[in-house]
Amino acid sequence: MNTRKHWLSHFFAFFFVLCMTLGLTVYADEDMKVHFLNVGQADSTLITCGEHAMLIDAGNNDDAEPILNYIQNKAGLTHLDYAIGTHPHEDHIGSLDSVLETVSVDTVMLPNVTANTQTFRDVLNVIDEKGLSITIPEVGDTYTLGDASFTILGPVSDYGDDLNNWSIALKLTYGNVSFLFTGDAESTAESDMLNTGLDLGADVYQVGHHGSRTSSSSAFLDVVAPKYAVISCGAGNDYGHPHQETLDALSSRGIEIYRTDLQGSIIASTDGSSISFTTAFGNDSSSSASDGQGTDRSAGAVSDDSSYSQDNTASGDDPIVHITKTGEKYHSAGCRYLKKSDIEVTLSEAKNRGLTPCSKCNPPR
Ligand SMILES: [Zn+2]
Ligand SMILES: [Zn+2]
Repeated sequence: MNTRKHWLSHFFAFFFVLCMTLGLTVYADEDMKVHFLNVGQADSTLITCGEHAMLIDAGNNDDAEPILNYIQNKAGLTHLDYAIGTHPHEDHIGSLDSVLETVSVDTVMLPNVTANTQTFRDVLNVIDEKGLSITIPEVGDTYTLGDASFTILGPVSDYGDDLNNWSIALKLTYGNVSFLFTGDAESTAESDMLNTGLDLGADVYQVGHHGSRTSSSSAFLDVVAPKYAVISCGAGNDYGHPHQETLDALSSRGIEIYRTDLQGSIIASTDGSSISFTTAFGNDSSSSASDGQGTDRSAGAVSDDSSYSQDNTASGDDPIVHITKTGEKYHSAGCRYLKKSDIEVTLSEAKNRGLTPCSKCNPPR
């Protein structure tokens, strides 16, 4: 009698019974990852789950290159199960035409509303050219994404010309972990979602409308009751997003906030029981878990903003710094404020121009 084998078989039998008793699902497949892409003042979120993937929104018209680079090169995908345009505003469907042109997509979802813009017509044209059809999801519908699934929560009603409230809202669930996406839905749509009686509770909430005060109403936040909030917005955007009221409402509830304007692209990884976050700029990539077992297994996975480094190329005593055409600050190479213009000057030249150091990227002084 091989006692070791005997012991092992007892151990596995015990483990199996333990799992069954606790109702645990053992996820043998890969984790689910939710990638909140840094697309400035816009939204684009890529979800990967094993071999399956879904894109919720596709940034502005000029974000096609970074989004496709992320999908194809960073995530290594040539195919998406779903591409969802939450609503026909440019900052959500801007590069959806390019995505549909470049990668194959099974299901394209849009809400039942149109916009009289070239951006929207471009999306419709590609859908037509590719012989795709548009799926208009209904509240309560559930779709699968590998081992994950998502339920449609909005739009609940007809919102006329109010495109934000038409946003497709959905709750994505993997094991015991869930994420809520509401596009730019504002408090009217939020209140309609509450009235459906569907379960809105989620661990991670992508803050509606880029953190605008018109969304994330108290009643809504109280029911969603997330542990983490992710805000997709651009640094120094014209709208003042995220609004202070929203940040206060989140903080006062003890919700941990992640922001693409401050941290670059953000990846939330989950094994179905715990969640960990990795941020591109790496300045706050704290690993947190819903049950204390989180591991930062995707550390270093985001490299799209890796040019953001303390790479102050020195030239003698007068290091090179970076300035913009009109800004009043000087920066380190790769600072996110250099996206529109990036001019190299010496530190003394920058000081002569009366420029002061950027408080975010810590350039030489
Ligand atoms: Zn928007
Ligand atoms: Zn919008």
